[in-house]
Amino acid sequence: NDSLAESDPDILRAIELELGRQQTQIELIASENIVSRAVLEAQGSIMTNKYAEGYPGRRYYGGCEFVDIAENLAIERAKKLFDCAFVNVQPNSGSQANQGVMMALLKPGETIMGMSLAAGGHLTHGAAPNQSGKWFHAVQYGVRQQDHQIDLNEVEDLAKKHQPKLIIAGGSAYPRIIDFKAFRAIADSVGALLMVDMAHFAGLVAGGVHPSPLPYADVVTTTTHKTLRGPRGGMILSNNEDIGKKINSAIFPGIQGGPLMHVIAGKAVAFGEALRPGFKLYAQSVVDNARALAATLADAGFAIVSGGTDTHLMLVDLRPKKLTGKVAEAALERASITCNKNGIPFDPEKPTITSGVRLGTPAGTTRGFGVAEFQQVGKLITEVLTGLSQNGEEGNAKVEASVRERVLGLCKQFPIYG
Ligand code: PLP
Repeated sequence: NDSLAESDPDILRAIELELGRQQTQIELIASENIVSRAVLEAQGSIMTNKYAEGYPGRRYYGGCEFVDIAENLAIERAKKLFDCAFVNVQPNSGSQANQGVMMALLKPGETIMGMSLAAGGHLTHGAAPNQSGKWFHAVQYGVRQQDHQIDLNEVEDLAKKHQPKLIIAGGSAYPRIIDFKAFRAIADSVGALLMVDMAHFAGLVAGGVHPSPLPYADVVTTTTHKTLRGPRGGMILSNNEDIGKKINSAIFPGIQGGPLMHVIAGKAVAFGEALRPGFKLYAQSVVDNARALAATLADAGFAIVSGGTDTHLMLVDLRPKKLTGKVAEAALERASITCNKNGIPFDPEKPTITSGVRLGTPAGTTRGFGVAEFQQVGKLITEVLTGLSQNGEEGNAKVEASVRERVLGLCKQFPIYG
């Protein structure tokens, strides 16, 4: 019964260093967030000890009465949050949620259609190296060259030509609201099922600042750890009970064994938090902050892909500053601002270099940053990247050190896990 400090100081040290990093860097990775202490407590609980294959009330192991409380609460809260008839909270990740849908609704070799990785889609939507691209005939749609938005005419033409069984809408680096109704009409016109992967914007839907895909999609998948601000994991939702039954069998016993009951407890806590009125304010603030950051960067001469954002994220095209995503990410990290390099649509650079960075406001907003702070963050980013473009790969050590000081000031003003 030794504490972590006594039994494994090496891991404790790694955790403490990571805590320090989170406390002192500005987190702009669009897929990350900062969970509450309550979520951490549930996720770090003794529920990790429990095997609970099956579903509440129908388990393959004894002693499940108390983990059933947690899973039932997670399901009920998610149904209320997203106003839907069916939820499965067991997927261990967003990728496994998507894999579960394909296991439930498709056979290997059938045709799926999703947005290409290069245009902002996710690997699991049919990218060549992913199982979805290897086991299915994957057709990929992109965005228009002139405005970087989904070309619904192209989606329709491809659907007519390839007759997919499943059409997927949603992405990892797409900053605009997707027209779910139009996707539904295209799916209906070719007899396809429609899946929306709302992993990135689920918290915005929960907070009422983004349209819900649930009235239109046959099935909706999500992660629980991005804008939704829960523990790392996945979830599948639907209004179609028949699809729900197939999904349940696909997740267990189809692709998973025992569910992570401690994570499911954490999901329940996060959904409870998202049902409170404060979450609506949070979601609105995430979007307001993203607009403010995008506008500040645009004013400073950066090109914002698609001209702006409707959501929590933006793609910054660095070519006007003659920079690549790779060097920009490294310079910003030296200045304690964390983000990821990201390909922009029609990127001339390799995926390991890229011409862009993806920035998001969910984590900063959780720590309390508002529009004024995000405008300041935009100016700090501009200082670092201007220093970099004027002083080459190594950047400008003086500018970076000065920005790092001001980042630390902001982080101290808005502390986390204090
Ligand atoms: N779907 C989308 C749209 C995503 O952006 C991601 C993660 O980035 C996933 C699915 C996969 O989630 P996970 O990393 O939990 O497997």
